[in-house]
Amino acid sequence: MTHEVPPSLPPADAAAPPRGRAPGGSPGAGPAYPAATSAAPASTASASTASASTRPAAAEEADVIVVGAGPAGSATASYLARAGVDVLLLEKAQFPREKVCGDGLTPRAVKALIGMGVPVREQDGWVRNKGLRIIGGGVRLELPWPELSSYPGYGLVRTRLDFDEILARTAQKAGARLLEGVTVMGPVLDDDGRITGVTARSTADAGGPERSYRARVIVAADGNSSRLSLAMGLSKRDDRPMGVAVRTYYTSPRHDDDYLESWLDLWDGPRQLPGYGWIFGMGDGTSNVGLGMLNTSDSFGHVDYRDLLRRWLAGMPPEWGYVEENRTLPIRGSALPMGFNRTPHYTRGLLLAGDAGGMVNPFNGEGIPYALESGELAAQFITQALARPDAAGAERVLMAYPQALKAAYGGYYTLGRRFVQAIGNPKVMQFATRHGMPRPALMRITLKLLANLTEPRGGHATDRVIHALSKMTPAA
Ligand SMILES: Cc1cc2nc3c(=O)[nH]c(=O)nc-3n(C[C@H](O)[C@H](O)[C@H](O)COP(=O)(O)OP(=O)(O)OC[C@H]3O[C@@H](n4cnc5c(N)ncnc54)[C@H](O)[C@@H]3O)c2cc1C
Repeated sequence: MTHEVPPSLPPADAAAPPRGRAPGGSPGAGPAYPAATSAAPASTASASTASASTRPAAAEEADVIVVGAGPAGSATASYLARAGVDVLLLEKAQFPREKVCGDGLTPRAVKALIGMGVPVREQDGWVRNKGLRIIGGGVRLELPWPELSSYPGYGLVRTRLDFDEILARTAQKAGARLLEGVTVMGPVLDDDGRITGVTARSTADAGGPERSYRARVIVAADGNSSRLSLAMGLSKRDDRPMGVAVRTYYTSPRHDDDYLESWLDLWDGPRQLPGYGWIFGMGDGTSNVGLGMLNTSDSFGHVDYRDLLRRWLAGMPPEWGYVEENRTLPIRGSALPMGFNRTPHYTRGLLLAGDAGGMVNPFNGEGIPYALESGELAAQFITQALARPDAAGAERVLMAYPQALKAAYGGYYTLGRRFVQAIGNPKVMQFATRHGMPRPALMRITLKLLANLTEPRGGHATDRVIHALSKMTPAA
């Protein structure tokens, strides 16, 4: 690495070992930590993983530390490594690992994967879909993904068990040093409160000793709870929407459905809930079935979501097989942090990417494309900052990252917040379902809006309207 070190950013240790190599694990040099695993195949779930107990000690310095190897962290690390930056990617789990998700990827996510260099051919194990089937208000609509120059005309599904490992191996292949089984405990701060590293310990040894890792810039890509952001004083904003979603898998003859399916009729007694249920065929004999709901409704927090899922599925045709004896995993749930619900996205040496920065789309609950895109954006800003010859210049670049995020999503997320506020009223939700669903042309436009699939320039008149609306709405 040849970046000049801005004075106030911690310098790279001259004695630090070269990228991708552990310093030899000398006896007594600290706890036995997983070494950065060498480049691994990009698409094999069985690729070798480091073991927390058997590998020698890892390098402790890097230009950049990325905390969390979910989509946001792996994208950040991948783009940084490609730009020649020495990046350490710390992940508390060992791959392959489960992540609670619907496993559905819209064309927006597919585009981001292609940009990252991930092969998405069907022979690589990806299951393609043609669009979204929406069921609600007594109507069943099949809406193909729009034909656009900016996005591919298909979506994908892949279990997160595979998906996240593929992304992490992609980052590794690009040159990022991935340490699995390392739980980051907190920030290391200098006298000005600027983050200069993190402390971590082996996940397998919760009571074990802590070790510190130092870098010039740190990225929090540690998901919705983002302990690292919290430790830096960045808590969630109450004025931003939040969702909650649960999901499980059933063996089902519907496993090879070539449309993602979403059900708008979620009822809690007489109240229609703001949210939707989904059925995504995984192509492996199972369906991913789940539901998500928004905090803009009075019912939020008072509903037993697992029970709601069971009640919703009880109304399904029995031949689809969504019954207890076909369930292959427990029903698990997690939060959906939406519409920039943690800000600022840069402060004192720490950038936030993906769920850590609350970047789930409020319109439809998808978070993977925004995790991948924000990771790419963070990497671009960091790469430029590291190349600045002075601290003030580097800081100026990093301070511009939140502005770039606002320019990309701010207006759209503001619209999304208004949308979730409106449908939080059961009467509005009911009205929208009843009057929107019978109008396929209107629903095609709605799909573009909800999935954020429009041409940024030119395109169809509807693209221009949606785009103009997003741009005119103040980003906040
Ligand atoms: C039920 C449900 C269904 C969903 N369905 C979809 C869908 O179909 N499509 C879609 O696009 N989005 C979906 N989402 C949203 C999507 O899952 C998230 O937006 C996405 O995973 C965000 O990626 P991320 O990398 O920011 O965070 P995460 O995927 O949460 O990754 C964070 C990573 O950080 C690691 N980590 C956390 N803490 C530490 C620590 N202290 N030290 C080291 N590592 C740490 C974690 O182990 C994890 O690997 C769904 C969410 C839920 C809850």
